[in-house]
Amino acid sequence: MFKPSLVALLVALSAGSAAAQSALSSKQITIVAPFAAGGPTDTMARLVALGMSEKLSTRVLVENIAGAGGTIGSTRVAKAEPDGTTLVFGNIGTHAANAGLFKKLPYDPEHDFEPVALIASVPFVVATKNQLPVADFAGFRAVATTTPLTYGSAGIGSASHLACLLLNAAMHGKASHVPYRGVALAMNDLISGQIDFICDQTVTLIPHITGGSVRPLAVMSRTQLAQLPNLPTVAASGLPEVDVEAWNALFAPKGTPRPVVDQLFALVEEALAVPTVRSRLVEFGAVIPARDAAQPDALRAHVSAEIRKWVPIIRNAGVTAE
Ligand code: ASP
Repeated sequence: MFKPSLVALLVALSAGSAAAQSALSSKQITIVAPFAAGGPTDTMARLVALGMSEKLSTRVLVENIAGAGGTIGSTRVAKAEPDGTTLVFGNIGTHAANAGLFKKLPYDPEHDFEPVALIASVPFVVATKNQLPVADFAGFRAVATTTPLTYGSAGIGSASHLACLLLNAAMHGKASHVPYRGVALAMNDLISGQIDFICDQTVTLIPHITGGSVRPLAVMSRTQLAQLPNLPTVAASGLPEVDVEAWNALFAPKGTPRPVVDQLFALVEEALAVPTVRSRLVEFGAVIPARDAAQPDALRAHVSAEIRKWVPIIRNAGVTAE
């Protein structure tokens, strides 16, 4: 059950930074990243944890509990003590698409969590291995409709799976899915040429593009990116139905008291205002929402709307987790 000491500590947080620091120094907040280290979820969770740690006297930890499209880590947090000390860094996959992709999801994304804060919306880019002989998205599409390519993702139901399966369905492509425990692992295999393409969030993909280790083809949302100005969108390249971005958000277990959720929201808001955290996120394409859209109640409504949006699209595409 809820530990009174944490309430005291979070009340102290709102009362003033010195009091908060001494109170919080005795408590450990852990953010579960339900994917492997080095991928977008892990990278963003670590940035948020860094910002939160700057506002406290303790370090906020990130624990990677990867596997099964983020469901293992998410389930762990759904069942954790609802006292504000264990949070999950969820996204469009773990808290929306999974509801359509898994026949039996071990948690209810709408009712097993208290939404804490919407963190960032991040564009996807489709990128191929350098060894694939295609120059642009049109060339890729032509190959994908005739050749059985492979794409890697962070597992069934993950955001990167959702994005690539939407793309493959829109192209009438022949590609098959290779699931990993996180995009970072899929990226290693893309770079070494073992898989053909990936749909990844720009926060981790842009450094690989800049370094020349993969070839970007198109942006999967409707607007072009300032960071990659020469890249067309998939929509403008003849597939207007492809329009997907990864939203990322923090959730606490159901039953976490509202005052604790509100204090955590305030802490996250401060964390996202830390210049090094904000600039690193924005530099690589993340869009941090306005306060109203980020708040717990707005996030709850957003999760419901996203489940209602994606589940029918996924079911119509005839895709379920094996
Ligand atoms: N969050 C990413 C996804 O859902 C995976 C990752 O961070 O590795 O695709």
